[in-house]
Amino acid sequence: MKNFRQDVLTNAKTILIKVGSAVLTGSDGLDLKIIDSLVREMSDLAEAGYSIVLVTSGAIASGKHRLKITENLKSMPEKQAAAAIGQGRLMRVYSKSFEKNGHYVAQILLTLSDLTDRQRYLNIRNTLSTLMEWKTIPIINENDTVAVDEIKFGDNDNLAAMIANVIEADLFINLTSTDGLYDCNPTVSKKAKLIRVVNEFSEDIEAAATDETSSAGTGGMKSKIQAAKKVTAIGIPCIIAPGRKKNVLTEIMAGKEIGTLFLPMADRLNAKKYWIAFTLRTCGRIIIDEGAKKALLEKGKSLLPSGIVDVEGDFNLGDPVVCADHKGTILAKGLVNFSSAEISKIKGLKTSQIKQVLGHNDYDEVIHRDNLAITQQNLRK
Ligand code: GLU
Repeated sequence: MKNFRQDVLTNAKTILIKVGSAVLTGSDGLDLKIIDSLVREMSDLAEAGYSIVLVTSGAIASGKHRLKITENLKSMPEKQAAAAIGQGRLMRVYSKSFEKNGHYVAQILLTLSDLTDRQRYLNIRNTLSTLMEWKTIPIINENDTVAVDEIKFGDNDNLAAMIANVIEADLFINLTSTDGLYDCNPTVSKKAKLIRVVNEFSEDIEAAATDETSSAGTGGMKSKIQAAKKVTAIGIPCIIAPGRKKNVLTEIMAGKEIGTLFLPMADRLNAKKYWIAFTLRTCGRIIIDEGAKKALLEKGKSLLPSGIVDVEGDFNLGDPVVCADHKGTILAKGLVNFSSAEISKIKGLKTSQIKQVLGHNDYDEVIHRDNLAITQQNLRK
């Protein structure tokens, strides 16, 4: 059988590592022993020539511990306040530990709106690539103290999936409190079996993950699967692995069968298309016919008015919109050249008729292929 792991590891140079709260925190606040050992492993990898970027949780859990709060925090301001207390400590612990191993760290706190704004997105990308060039370790968390629902990543799994795109990672390692993805919930069934490789997001795979979370984290296995789905869709492999296992990172990189490996489901999508597909919030939907579906998915063409059957939502020029077939399956997402009102007037028409109907023909395409990301999972050939 083909050794998929070896293929993935051979090509891995830039690695995004995400560590969840359940891995980092113990009954005694931050688990310094675990942090020290993960930091030692990351430092070894950095010395071996890998570029390492870390996405870490643990701010809220650490803040709660400082204040001796044991129950779950419910209100947003309480969580934000706890994060403000815990984030400093979290960074202090990492910084001390990395410095013992000869590495400097850099703190980056982000909200979703930092990534949906193209200019800020590019600034973050430049900063991260400079930090990597300088061989420092960027440590990223959500900027919890300012994030409210509309600008929240939701959880750090989602944040990490977006960062994987920003840094164009070759591998995303998601360290969690379980051994990987099981075929059913291992805390409920003794028969649960660990899935070693996922090469397709079948219904069984999606059903295998519950959204139960540990008391410390926000994510749960479901959000880890969603994150794996996002990165593999743009050609980045993902490994969900047990973060508290001794030497977990070293062993993964040595090719040991640890955790669940999610293989890339598509060829690498370029960073801009990924940004359109997974970072921007969708403003509407265009229903396309079978001919347009073929043109987009198989021929890599732009979306023209003639292939449009219907338009839903209220959006403007430049907004991100999904393209779906008549069954409602989402196939692609792109930036539109016309508003929803204009598209409903030109749907089904030939490009040559645009001017006659709208009084202008600034664009021939409703979505140009350069601004169109195909998001339907392509199965591995
Ligand atoms: N940003 C949160 C923290 O550092 C964690 C979010 C998550 O676990 O997904 O506490």
